[in-house]
Amino acid sequence: MKNNRVTPIEIGGEEFKKIGYQLIDAISEFIKTISERPVTRGESPAQLQKILGSSGLPENGTPAEDLLSEACELLFSHSLLNGHPKFMGYITSSAAPIGALADLLAASVNPNLGAQILSPIATEIEKQTIRWLAEFIGVSPDYGGILVSGGNMANFTAFLTARNAKAPGNIKEDGISGASPEMVIYCSSATHTWIDKAVTLFGQGTRSLRRIPLDTANQMDIRILEESIKNDLSYDRKPIMVIAAGGDVSTGVVDDLEGISSICKTYDLWFHVDGAYGVPAAVLPELKMLFKGLEDADSIALDPHKWWYSPLEAGCTLVKEPGHLIDAFSSHPEYYNFAGSDQDPVLNYYEYGLQNSRNFRALKVWLALQQVGRSGYMKMIGDDIRLSRLLFEKAGNHPELEAITQNLSITTLRYVPSDLGNAVKKREIYLNTLNEALLNELQQGGEVFLSNALVRNVYCLRGCIVNFRTTEKDIKEIIEIIVREGRKLHHKLQREAGISAHA
Ligand SMILES: *Cc1c(COP(=O)(O)O)cnc(C)c1O
Repeated sequence: MKNNRVTPIEIGGEEFKKIGYQLIDAISEFIKTISERPVTRGESPAQLQKILGSSGLPENGTPAEDLLSEACELLFSHSLLNGHPKFMGYITSSAAPIGALADLLAASVNPNLGAQILSPIATEIEKQTIRWLAEFIGVSPDYGGILVSGGNMANFTAFLTARNAKAPGNIKEDGISGASPEMVIYCSSATHTWIDKAVTLFGQGTRSLRRIPLDTANQMDIRILEESIKNDLSYDRKPIMVIAAGGDVSTGVVDDLEGISSICKTYDLWFHVDGAYGVPAAVLPELKMLFKGLEDADSIALDPHKWWYSPLEAGCTLVKEPGHLIDAFSSHPEYYNFAGSDQDPVLNYYEYGLQNSRNFRALKVWLALQQVGRSGYMKMIGDDIRLSRLLFEKAGNHPELEAITQNLSITTLRYVPSDLGNAVKKREIYLNTLNEALLNELQQGGEVFLSNALVRNVYCLRGCIVNFRTTEKDIKEIIEIIVREGRKLHHKLQREAGISAHA
């Protein structure tokens, strides 16, 4: 056995080729037919458990060929297909096929991007990817950063970096309990839920957070932001950072980045932009003005698995002065210049973030950036936005639909039956009930997948197009589906109300 070890997990050359080709064939067919499949079958957990079976841990092995073909069947038939042209829920993109191939390649070589010595070329590819992402969004390519699992992790990484840089005293030695005065953080009331996790899990507490209300344009009200900072200063608290939205998750509004940046300069605060959804749109010349001020951000959270269409997972933290990452995450920052020579320094990514061992998620982002180039992304992102505006316009022109908001590639709208009474309060309550039920109906129906938003207490259907497969025909059909299902549901609710009124 010594020189010829046989293990049950190895898949040797010819076999790998055979099974691999079969898998690629199956995936090709899946991608080719994705638009003809239901977006989802809406199966319940109990139904799915039945399909999966309840057998215990297998004692013995099963041939890989059989397992992969069964896994294909399970996944293709019982998944929610976010690669479907009519998927526009939440902010989850269709995955670029090159990303699937890249993940296969990355896993096959399996470099560990915790340390340069374990991932020589892969580390350089990640560095280049980060530079390209910075160039893409129009900030200096001298921003440094790290790829992480997604937007939440990208924001957490920036949050911890900012806190380390701006905390009073030496937070690394004294901890937060030793930090005095009390630190304060500012975000808008529309900030994504990551901020709740950050302030609770990283020990700041929710009382350290100021949620600044939105103004009439649905942007963070920067007048109130400044008053709030002044008020905290008057109580001898220590404001440390402001979080701005580079496209808020619900309706896509971009905050006044320039205004917030200028307040941050005045009060010496860390300026963070959560650009997980919207910042890739800064690549479009016609939207450049919308993102003015982004180039001043101390840190930016990006999410390649959203508008760069990377398969899950890929997020990215960019930091204007990358030394801050080392200060926050390395336990011996004073040595960081000693690795390699000064002219040819070595970057060990474990010193840039929370993870130690790290996968090669950079590959899928790096390859997609080259497959389509800046111009390819400008076309796709531009088309997503145009399709979203078309949805808004078509909803606005339809007598039974109300178009509510449109920003970047997010449109909100609602179904409004033509035979509603005029009692305003009752009408609004009914419309919220109707549209919530309608969303559930649509999500289970499998023809289209939308999510919801609450805009000034109005329950809306929300379509977010980060989907290079969506076409104008899909938009037209989605309008028809919403109206058809809306009518059905309205009649059903009316009938039920009629019955209970007469009972
Ligand atoms: C999606 C999103 C997040 C969270 O990103 P994940 O990739 O889901 O972790 C945070 N902020 C904004 C603005 C987002 O759009």
